[in-house]
Amino acid sequence: MPDRPVVTRIAPSPTGAMHIGTARTALFNWLYAKHTGGKFLLRIEDTDRERSTDAAVQVIFDGLAWLGLTPDEEPVFQFARAERHVLAAQELLAKGAAYRCYMTVEETTAEREIARAEGRAIRSPWRDAEANFNDRPHVIRFKSPQEGETVIRDKVKGDITFQNKDLDDLILLRTDGTPTYNLAVIVDDHEMGITHVIRGDDHLNNAARQTQIYEALGWDVPVWAHLPMINGPDGKKLSKRHGAQAVSEFDEMGYLPEAMRNYLARLGWGHGNDEIFTDEQAASWFELEDVVGAPARLDWDKLNHLNNHYIRLAQIERLAELVTKIHQTRDFPRHDGDQEILLRTIPLVRDGAKTTLELADATVFALKRRPLELPDKIKGMLTEETSARLGRLREALSGEPVWEVSELEAALRGFAESEGVGMGKFGPALRGVLSGGSPAPDLAGALVSLGKPESLERLDDALSQAA
Ligand code: GLU
Repeated sequence: MPDRPVVTRIAPSPTGAMHIGTARTALFNWLYAKHTGGKFLLRIEDTDRERSTDAAVQVIFDGLAWLGLTPDEEPVFQFARAERHVLAAQELLAKGAAYRCYMTVEETTAEREIARAEGRAIRSPWRDAEANFNDRPHVIRFKSPQEGETVIRDKVKGDITFQNKDLDDLILLRTDGTPTYNLAVIVDDHEMGITHVIRGDDHLNNAARQTQIYEALGWDVPVWAHLPMINGPDGKKLSKRHGAQAVSEFDEMGYLPEAMRNYLARLGWGHGNDEIFTDEQAASWFELEDVVGAPARLDWDKLNHLNNHYIRLAQIERLAELVTKIHQTRDFPRHDGDQEILLRTIPLVRDGAKTTLELADATVFALKRRPLELPDKIKGMLTEETSARLGRLREALSGEPVWEVSELEAALRGFAESEGVGMGKFGPALRGVLSGGSPAPDLAGALVSLGKPESLERLDDALSQAA
């Protein structure tokens, strides 16, 4: 490849959800462009007019935006470039590297069957006929070399040799004059100045055919890097039963985009034993030669571990916004003052959260409104003795001047000593009264989340119910 600045691209077909395999391909292209100071581009391969929808195009834009993988230029739409593809086919015709093939559908089917039985690629009798009947329906086929071999020098898979006799004469333009996928990809990659084609290894065979067409056109063949699939944790093809496949599902399940980037980077690529790294580190380390050729496996424990790491690093305001959205989608009632409660509570509960959904769950106790519905189990804890003790604790706490975790921990310990009992004698009841039975942090943390007035009022409510 000449010393041109690196240009990579992601070329998804907008036909539905954005698969995490596509996300990982996008990430590797983005990382490699960052690594080399090059550009990362987006091409929407929307030539399948029946399956391509505007909504699916939006899914790709949203998925890339959520992942933070912003292309460096406006997206290119493949369908709009059909004229360019046709021109390239005409150029191949003019060079004698393509021909008009007049085989009917029936003839093609029959030839395909014979070729299969003989274990060879299909051949057209029109290959060397140089016929040009303008009025007869035809396709334009590539005159692929029949001898020798085509070698793909793949950065991930190594050298892969294809015998040319096994590759049939690819259709470039269909009977209706529309370009086929392989032609469109080559013309677009060439005209977009793509230097490195980094994509799924399901396109490896296409790389051989595409190489031949590049050569016939006299164009530089890009550097190939074919990435292995992402399988489920059991090593089988990723499917619904493995939990999630679409980028949007990972968002809905409460994963942060930076955790996804770190996680996806480790799916098939690595830098020594580093498991946690920043985007800058990944970009500075990322070499295509370090991509592993074997399929990667989705590992939920690793993803959860990374997500927890990034939840612990995230800005509290950002987490509060995410948690608020989650509560909204669950129709959890909203009140004035919730924001302050969240800002106080999130730092106290986030260490245990693997996802933002768990983080949202962990804030519910603090956002509830008085008087709390106490489950029977908690009511049962409020015996006469415990209620009296909680009453005395309420008095002690009401005199507490500094409402912070370490002060309150000391106050609770001091109270237990003054009562001559262990914390177990009143801790669970206090926790129940403060949380209404929802998950909550430890006692001092719960008191800080709620703030002093709310804490004392929840105690009052419970003690008056018990009385
Ligand atoms: N549109 C193809 C796909 O979604 C990608 C083609 C390519 O990267 O060359 O699989």
